[in-house]
Amino acid sequence: MRRKLAAGNWKMNGLAASLAELETLAQAPAPHQTDRMICPPATLLARAVNVAGEITIGGQDCHPQPSGAHTGDVSAAMLADAGATAVIVGHSERRADHHETDADIRAKAEAAWAAGLTAVICLGESLAQREAEETLSVIAAQLEASTPDGATGTNTVIAYEPIWAIGTGLVPSLDQIAEVHDAMRAQLVARFGATEGKAMRLLYGGSVKPDNAADIFATSNVDGALVGGASLKAADFQAIIDALDAA
Ligand code: PEP
Repeated sequence: MRRKLAAGNWKMNGLAASLAELETLAQAPAPHQTDRMICPPATLLARAVNVAGEITIGGQDCHPQPSGAHTGDVSAAMLADAGATAVIVGHSERRADHHETDADIRAKAEAAWAAGLTAVICLGESLAQREAEETLSVIAAQLEASTPDGATGTNTVIAYEPIWAIGTGLVPSLDQIAEVHDAMRAQLVARFGATEGKAMRLLYGGSVKPDNAADIFATSNVDGALVGGASLKAADFQAIIDALDAA
């Protein structure tokens, strides 16, 4: 019932020449049950929209205010104006580098909705929290505090991204992924009701590659992936899309 989602986060990577990768992806046959999204750096966003075809384009972050004296920031309205339909909020790199709190992320998600964007809300535990067996409580607290009231299957996607798995080649076991995703699903159903709680897509992120994608996508309550490094090359991301569409 939920369409799958393969979302690529280019982070602070990509110059104009990188749009050739997106063009290659856009020329591939459309998957049957999988939506595709690329989140390029803000500098490429409008140009990415022009070559993306059926692939949707998202921002990587937004300011909670629609406009104002915030040098260097980009608002959700600006992203929408450039052609984005979604924005990542609360990526662990933003939480770490910019000291973003759950309250900040909740405000950004609300700003995204106000601009008509889907908010891709990221959550994840540190290695120390994982080793202290705090993962479920950490994720539950982040999910509760980062997700605004009014979340629906249309306006919100949740991405579980263990911090220690991002860009490291380390991946939780399939049981560990399932445990977190099942807990997130139960929490969303309890808070938002069965219809919307079951409609929200839950992505796994953290070192998803072509060779581990199929197993991850066969895991309980995994509706897709948020992919960093492997989204930069069309061939790698296409292999992940194909694995997801076949799962
Ligand atoms: C990410 O940064 O969202 C991510 C999942 O990165 P990677 O796939 O490179 O681990």
